Amino acid sequence: MSDTLLNHRIRLASRPHGEPTAENFQHDAVAVAAPGDGQVLLRTRYLSLDPYVRGRMSDAPSYAAPMEVGDVIVGATVSEVVESEAEGYSPGDVVLSYGGWQEYSVEPATRLRRLDPDAAPVTTALGVLGMPGFTAYAGLRAIGKPQPGETLVVAAATGPVGSAVGQIARIQGARAVGIAGGERKTAHLHELGFDEALDHRAPDLPGRLAAAAPDGIDVYFENVGGPVFAAVLPLLNTFARVPVCGLAATYNATGLPEGPDRSAALMGAVLAKSLTLRGFIQTEFAPAMFEDFLREMTGWIASGQVRWTEDITDGLEHAPDAFVGMLRGENFGKAIIHVS
Ligand code: NDP
Repeated sequence: MSDTLLNHRIRLASRPHGEPTAENFQHDAVAVAAPGDGQVLLRTRYLSLDPYVRGRMSDAPSYAAPMEVGDVIVGATVSEVVESEAEGYSPGDVVLSYGGWQEYSVEPATRLRRLDPDAAPVTTALGVLGMPGFTAYAGLRAIGKPQPGETLVVAAATGPVGSAVGQIARIQGARAVGIAGGERKTAHLHELGFDEALDHRAPDLPGRLAAAAPDGIDVYFENVGGPVFAAVLPLLNTFARVPVCGLAATYNATGLPEGPDRSAALMGAVLAKSLTLRGFIQTEFAPAMFEDFLREMTGWIASGQVRWTEDITDGLEHAPDAFVGMLRGENFGKAIIHVS
């Protein structure tokens, strides 16, 4: 069967300088490969679009190796088994895999996580019940540690990481201040139960943030950097914790921001206020915490304490535009491509 099928793919054509453009992506089609021993042939149903992929398109040093020009763009997928040469997997099984931006992939069974479509919508494995939800959980549990009555601030707050951060913090008794781009998103933050919702595109974020956090900020879950962090820094309380999770405002930057070097002021604040700034990549905590996360998050979803939103675009060919749009903030919830 597999030699009669074509696999449409999107590959890295060239490395972007600044925001990716159509020229950085190459669309092609090749014959579908057959699975070898211990492997399965998968058809991609849903593809996750994630900000980290922008880093992999670049060859700047980072925590993970860059993609090579010509590689299929990387990404987590919810896929269906089409052919199996692996024990325990049969055609029709639905799995979480890492198939990337293509319609079919051949994967070793050891890299798959079986999904139960009756337990939760399968797309949640890419968002609230997957890597982004776990990132929120782990960053809070290991670093942020919000306490009852404390104030937590998070930006990109309607995205899969930020929305989980704010809702988990509220379950733990903290006040959650969400920052997002535009009125539709801030209205949604109120629906999710955030105590305050601020639009970072409206004027005077520093003044509005100070009013929304009258007792200062105890936990700032850093997703974006840039002007949001500049507004947060003066409001951090003594012993505040800052899980540094992402810097979405800078992913397309081609150099350092204009203006004076502010690192001395930052280090001064770290010292004077005994701040904890701790970067993390979620994989660090997965062995110790992923099972706890799945259990707790499944419970919070079932009880309605954590809600989620998905922004699903039809068609693999639209992945580049949707990806660039997500980095700009055009997504409303977890960005997903419906491939087949
Ligand atoms: P989102 O779906 O939230 O998408 C990114 C969002 O960033 C945009 O929607 C936009 O939201 C916001 N944004 C973009 N530019 C700016 C800006 N200049 N100022 C303020 N906000 C901006 O993404 P995720 O939830 O998947 O990821 C959130 C963060 O977590 C990212 O930084 C990501 O890299 C990081 N991450 C880190 C992991 C780790 O292991 N450390 C794992 C997973 C994610 P808006 O319109 O509201 O501004």
